[in-house]
Amino acid sequence: MKSITLAHGNGGEENGRLIEELFYRHFQNKILHQAEDAAVIGKGALAFTTDSFTVTPLFFKGGDIGKLSICGTCNDLAMMGAKPKYLTCAVIIEEGFEISALEKIVLSMKYELEKNGAIIVSGDTKVVPKGSVDKLFINTTGIGEIRYKGISANALSLDDVIIVSGSIGRHGASIFLEREGMEFSTALESDCRSLWPVVEKLIEADIDIKAMRDATRGGVAAVLNEWARQSDICIEVEEEKVPISREVKGVCELLGFEAFSLANEGTFILAVSAQDAPKALELLRSIEASSMAEIIGEVTTGYPQKVLLKTPYGTSRFLELPSGELLPRIC
Ligand code: MG
Repeated sequence: MKSITLAHGNGGEENGRLIEELFYRHFQNKILHQAEDAAVIGKGALAFTTDSFTVTPLFFKGGDIGKLSICGTCNDLAMMGAKPKYLTCAVIIEEGFEISALEKIVLSMKYELEKNGAIIVSGDTKVVPKGSVDKLFINTTGIGEIRYKGISANALSLDDVIIVSGSIGRHGASIFLEREGMEFSTALESDCRSLWPVVEKLIEADIDIKAMRDATRGGVAAVLNEWARQSDICIEVEEEKVPISREVKGVCELLGFEAFSLANEGTFILAVSAQDAPKALELLRSIEASSMAEIIGEVTTGYPQKVLLKTPYGTSRFLELPSGELLPRIC
């Protein structure tokens, strides 16, 4: 392949290959190769991450690009057990963009920052001629203070239990429908939300957390496959245990999407030791943001580096890392 295709940004197979074969190859260092949601720096005390946001439409049911730009970066910090603290914000704005719309976006960012107890401490503003960028792109970079050490995609081991914090695929499904101007169901909206308040409660309850990852681009399928590969384990999932709303199921049936590959922006996967799983589940269900949490599977020695989906009928299939173009510009 000589040039970049949309598949190179899918959060799945092609995206992973581009990162490994180009960025990791040239930038190689030990921290980068951990391939975590956020890099652990400062002798293990700090988490550090960055994310760019190109979502279209800019305003969608359940959020907007501003809210998303804070949730995305803060959630990646939270997934490493880190309390979001300091963020930078860089915007690339197309000439002609309405200042009132920009202010609405900035106010969403402010509101979401407050939920995380984080602040913007540095920023950059670029304006480009009409047509050089589609309306507005935002980059945020964040530093968090690690409150729970050792969380890692490389730390899963036999018998760990896999929990999902809520019903899957809502962000991807709702963004797609809005973009296509399809009126489907008023009940369907993005799950976009900040996860630090939930993570803080898990840490306070002293749950034995092995790994956490927000199931963004590439969805639950990407997270589980990344964990299976990085920890060299097999993850077995009971398909009917995975919560999928009626609306998302409907969209998937109608349009041929796989709910496991659809993006989430406020739903995460948690791996805990088997003994702490009931306690973690009970705690998650007591919090509104994760009231639909379910235990969906466990780590086994079945097929190393593979994710096995088991149906109620006793059959099973591998859940693969998503590939192809999927849905571009959902985040
Ligand atoms: Mg993430």
